[in-house]
Amino acid sequence: MEKVKVKSPLVEMDGDEMARVVWRLVKERLILPFVEMETKYFDLGIMNRDATEDGVTLEAARAIGLYGVGVKCATITPDSERMREYGLKKQWPSPNATIRSALDGTVFRKPVLVSNVSPIVRSWKKPIIIGRHAYGDIYKAVELVVEEPGKVEIVYTEHGGETVRLLVHDFRGPGVTMAIHNLEASIRSFARSCVRYALDEGVDLWFSMKDTISKKYHAYFRKIFEEEVEARKGEFAKRGISYRYLLIDDAASQILRQEGNILWALSNYDGDVFSDLVASGFGSLGMMTSVLVSPDGKYEYEAAHGTVRRHYYEHLKGNPTSTNPVASIFAWTGALKKRGELDGTPEVVAFGERLERAVVETIEGGIATKDLIPLMNPKPERFSTTEEFIEAVARRLGSSSHG
Ligand code: NAP
Ligand code: MG
Repeated sequence: MEKVKVKSPLVEMDGDEMARVVWRLVKERLILPFVEMETKYFDLGIMNRDATEDGVTLEAARAIGLYGVGVKCATITPDSERMREYGLKKQWPSPNATIRSALDGTVFRKPVLVSNVSPIVRSWKKPIIIGRHAYGDIYKAVELVVEEPGKVEIVYTEHGGETVRLLVHDFRGPGVTMAIHNLEASIRSFARSCVRYALDEGVDLWFSMKDTISKKYHAYFRKIFEEEVEARKGEFAKRGISYRYLLIDDAASQILRQEGNILWALSNYDGDVFSDLVASGFGSLGMMTSVLVSPDGKYEYEAAHGTVRRHYYEHLKGNPTSTNPVASIFAWTGALKKRGELDGTPEVVAFGERLERAVVETIEGGIATKDLIPLMNPKPERFSTTEEFIEAVARRLGSSSHG
């Protein structure tokens, strides 16, 4: 059987723990037997980040900027416990945060749906994708606990210019206060990435804030978003998709009654809350994929989950695991499909689709990892190990290529 040839290099970033084990299996059994490609490989495993003083992460980010499409395995973001566990020199920053800020990108999370796995929310039949703004608001806040009576003000001094003072509150007793900010450029990049994603995927775009209450801060976001949608209005019409602005509380209640096929763009805090809510509403983290899209059209695909630490410790003890590899497989198919689209090689796109179909049909045939069993109808008699599931997909993929 002839392998599908990928024209341009793909940036591949390896990772940690169980996710790394799954990564190798997926690559060896589901990708390399079928695809001929050049990868620019970066080992973002924690030991190599430590050895390169995290230089490897910056190199990988640069490579995505250069080649345009990357695929990443989950990585450890070290805390003090991890520093001890792996004997690290430093608590290196989150690779995802480093890559996100290098590409000025927005992360979109999208669930993989299968007909015999029911989302907890009954009306959800198609993906609801969350786009979360990743800069500012309470994540870059300045806060103060007020102990004694006193005045809190916002003071803005223009460089070499005027001063503006606004009274926040004249405290008569103890209380608390906070100042937050955001940036025009960042909001615009976010809006642009969301518009690009909605057009790429052909899904409706929702954006929600609370501009009835916050007539300046939230209204500022709304205005920029609407300008970016307006600039590509013709393409929205051509693609048959729509843009809706909703108040956040209205959106939160309406989303439960939608079928899906919606990109819901959210501010940083709302995105934090609703991305977890939507992920759990759909079922398993093992089915949630994630893509980082930069406003100038660079893409990085990954699974939304982490390194699945608990399963890795079982694996190290020699025990069988049942880790769901679907999100990792879809990271690969997402990257391959995008590469094929950008290179103008429809056979690469077709392979990505074929592998996705093989995964979906495997689960629909009653073969699934443990995390999915409680959500399945009908329920299979037993769950598969990580390896058994991947082998079942490989068998289906191998036979589908002849038919
Ligand atoms: P996690 O890897 O997301 O896993 C948390 C739990 O969710 C697992 O223990 C497992 O539940 C379930 N789960 C997640 N993915 C699954 C899958 N593919 N199949 C089956 N079950 C799955 O989070 P963690 O174990 O708390 O974090 C481990 C490391 O991941 C941390 O060091 C963190 O820094 C890192 N992390 C990385 C990324 C990234 O690179 N994008 C994202 C998040 C976290 P059960 O144990 O109940 O089976
Ligand atoms: Mg969260």
